Amino acid sequence: MKIVVLDGYTENPGDLSWEGLEALGELTVYEHTDASEVAQRIGDAPYVYTNKTPITRETMDACPNLKFIGVLATGYNIVDVEAAKEKGIPVCNIPTYGTTAVSQFAMALLLEIAHHVGAHSDAVKKGDWENCKDWCFWNYPLFELAGKTFGIIGAGRIGYATAKIANAFGMKILAYDIYPNKSLESEWFHFADLDTVLKESDVLSLHCPLFESTKEIIRKENIDKMKDGAIIINTSRGPLINEDDLDEALNSGKIFAAAVDVLSVEPPRGHNKLIANPRCITTPHIAWAPKESRQRLMDIAVDNLKQFIAGNVVNAVNMK
Ligand code: NAD
Repeated sequence: MKIVVLDGYTENPGDLSWEGLEALGELTVYEHTDASEVAQRIGDAPYVYTNKTPITRETMDACPNLKFIGVLATGYNIVDVEAAKEKGIPVCNIPTYGTTAVSQFAMALLLEIAHHVGAHSDAVKKGDWENCKDWCFWNYPLFELAGKTFGIIGAGRIGYATAKIANAFGMKILAYDIYPNKSLESEWFHFADLDTVLKESDVLSLHCPLFESTKEIIRKENIDKMKDGAIIINTSRGPLINEDDLDEALNSGKIFAAAVDVLSVEPPRGHNKLIANPRCITTPHIAWAPKESRQRLMDIAVDNLKQFIAGNVVNAVNMK
């Protein structure tokens, strides 16, 4: 049975193996696929995987043999899941794989703001230490995390894992979640309403999914409720932030610094204010990408198809 991977490059740029899928059928892996090539590349294959390449109703109409759509990610908005449901095709995603990687990365962003390790290393390589009158120098204000309040919006798997690391640095945790899991409450972890979290946090880290209700949860009205000089970290989804409002708050000093792994449009095209703002650190959506995390994703992707072939539909997002 033919298996087609439409855009395998970001999941496996060469450091992982596709052997798990090879064992299940005749595998063709494309690194990237243009929207215009999707139907022709799927052809008569019953099994297809996509990461970010759209699979539309028209593609499904043009590929009547299609029986299974695997998504090499958690988010599945690139697939017309309703059309797939009507046709009885399960769309199977990877519900969770990156909790350790993303929480580690959120703290890496915060530590970068606290110490600017990369920029100081670059300055030393440029010769600034050799040319320094003193025995040390620093180019940015440096600060400790201990004793500060780490606010979280979205205390799910990644939010809570990040909170545990922040707590290990001596931070107090205040979390807002629309469905607070009260069993997480402890001496160091407290739930509060959104306004309280905005008001009390020295650092605010976003970990909720992107929904209509969370879109631009960081906008002027809410930024104004935050402490002067607070820090914002976003490893969740770009549209959680109104980028114009954050840019303005960074320029005025209302927000001391921000670090974002995600932007409203990815890859960014043309001018993006956060990339241009010197008070914002921007990384190219890599929180999920450590090898261990991608291997976990691969293992679950393989298992989704293995189970489907055995007659069990697992991790289907459109079959409830
Ligand atoms: P999760 O489902 O375990 O947790 C999400 C939490 O957000 C839940 O507790 C939920 O109740 C809460 N929530 C939902 N709506 C809310 C709202 N309106 N206000 C406040 N809280 C709300 O998900 P997770 O595994 O922790 O992942 C969190 C997010 O991280 C994902 O949605 C995704 O956007 C992002 N992510 C980013 C990367 C990356 O590479 N940067 C990788 C994986 C996941």
